[in-house]
Amino acid sequence: MIDFNTQYLQTINGKLVGSERTFAAYNPATGEVIETVPDASEAQLDAAVAAAAAAFTSWRNSTVVERSRALNAIADAIDKNAESFMRLLTREQGKPRAGAQWEILGSAIWCREIAKQSLPDEVVEDTPDRRVITRFSPLGVVGGIVPWNFPVLLAIWKIAPALMTGNTLVIKPSPFTPLCTLKLGELCRDFLPPGVLNVVSGGDDLGKWMTAHPGIAKIAFTGHTETGKSVMRSAAGTLKRITLELGGNDPAIVLPDVDPKKVAPELFWAAFQNNAQFCNSTKRLYVHEDVYSDVLRELVAYARSVVVGDGANETTQLGPIQNKPQYEKVCEYIDDCTRNGYRFAIGGKIDRTAKGWFVPVTLVDNPPEDSRIVREEPFGPILPVLKWRDEADVIRRANDTEYGLGASVWGSDLAAVERIGAQLDAGTVWLNEIHQYSPHQAFGGHKQSGIGCENSLHGLMEYTNWHTITLNKKIGYGRSSATRAA
Ligand code: NAD
Repeated sequence: MIDFNTQYLQTINGKLVGSERTFAAYNPATGEVIETVPDASEAQLDAAVAAAAAAFTSWRNSTVVERSRALNAIADAIDKNAESFMRLLTREQGKPRAGAQWEILGSAIWCREIAKQSLPDEVVEDTPDRRVITRFSPLGVVGGIVPWNFPVLLAIWKIAPALMTGNTLVIKPSPFTPLCTLKLGELCRDFLPPGVLNVVSGGDDLGKWMTAHPGIAKIAFTGHTETGKSVMRSAAGTLKRITLELGGNDPAIVLPDVDPKKVAPELFWAAFQNNAQFCNSTKRLYVHEDVYSDVLRELVAYARSVVVGDGANETTQLGPIQNKPQYEKVCEYIDDCTRNGYRFAIGGKIDRTAKGWFVPVTLVDNPPEDSRIVREEPFGPILPVLKWRDEADVIRRANDTEYGLGASVWGSDLAAVERIGAQLDAGTVWLNEIHQYSPHQAFGGHKQSGIGCENSLHGLMEYTNWHTITLNKKIGYGRSSATRAA
């Protein structure tokens, strides 16, 4: 067990370290400071990268069994400390108990499942004359840059596959949610050699230093599409490998044969889970005109039953917006709808005098297709509900976005559901369900929602170099096939 009442410090080379400068972590439900945390200097990042590089020389030679054992030990330790992690996650991120539980217990599950994955050597040729194998070798030091919506799980999505493939890491949480990740770094010191996992805390500049750092071989980044483009530009300087998990504007298409009452809670949580601060939230809800009014009415009725408040209260189902800048951004979307005269089916009024960064659940009734609320990613609890009539047209509208992260289709006619789903241009398409993830299921974005993927063996492979080794068993016949052909 680790002590959550002590200071929150960085983990560099197995030691807990502070820094000259600090910054504050806030409780979004109250706007009050919870803790101050280290603001890493560039020299501290250099020290973390140097420690990770030194640790790589032996960690790369550890066996799959040893790495798997370490990940399982981390999973056990997360489980043992789950109660403290869940409380802290609610305090720093704002999410209520159920969400915190899903994220923390899920992080342990992810460690255990990724611990079962490996990439055996591929034997391309093995004859009396030659043997050719392709190995999947670790890259070196991985820099993990994490957002504030799922701070622990999205850190684990980087830590587990990087460790399992023999890499070492430097992880940077979002400056808005550093606390759980700093404790995670502290916890992992018991199960990993010094330097294998370093956790540094700081602002966006620290992220920029990481993407430009010559000692880092790969950046695994989750965050905004615009930030992802900066990461890619900066990583190009040293041709780093990159995995980018970016923004989304996920459509959901509702067919005319749904039962409005039954589907409404599903659609509600598809959009508002984690207070809609979710890359895969349904952000555009296309409902067939035959059931539009009924579905909207049921959604409003369901929304009225949902308790919004401080996540620390047992009855709360939706918490606050996680941080002040994001709160201002969501308010701006609501203001934009108000200015343009769009109708709110529910919500749309913000009490700016209230404590904490709360925005009410807001449904916008059929705004224009080219409105900001339809075209952009608000990342907060405001959802446009849109009417459709023609199947080809709704598929075109759903795909008419620079994003391609997720999508869903809802209906009783399974052939229609599957037909429509197959035409949606997104990394994950859910049919009559949503937000089902697995460590063994590839997850990533099409178009400007990302590059590469996380989870599954495809995700694991992104932490490796192909390493093809050919052996000519007949000494003296080593010319290249190209030379022979000539
Ligand atoms: P963000 O891009 O502002 O920040 C993410 C991280 O990047 C933070 O740690 C931040 O400090 C760091 N950072 C900021 N500028 C940087 C730079 N120039 N170089 C390097 N690092 C930099 O994103 P956010 O507001 O924390 O998260 C919300 C966004 O993340 C949304 O767009 C959401 O859709 C996306 N997201 C995507 C996924 C996915 O898997 N596709 C999952 C969760 C969130």
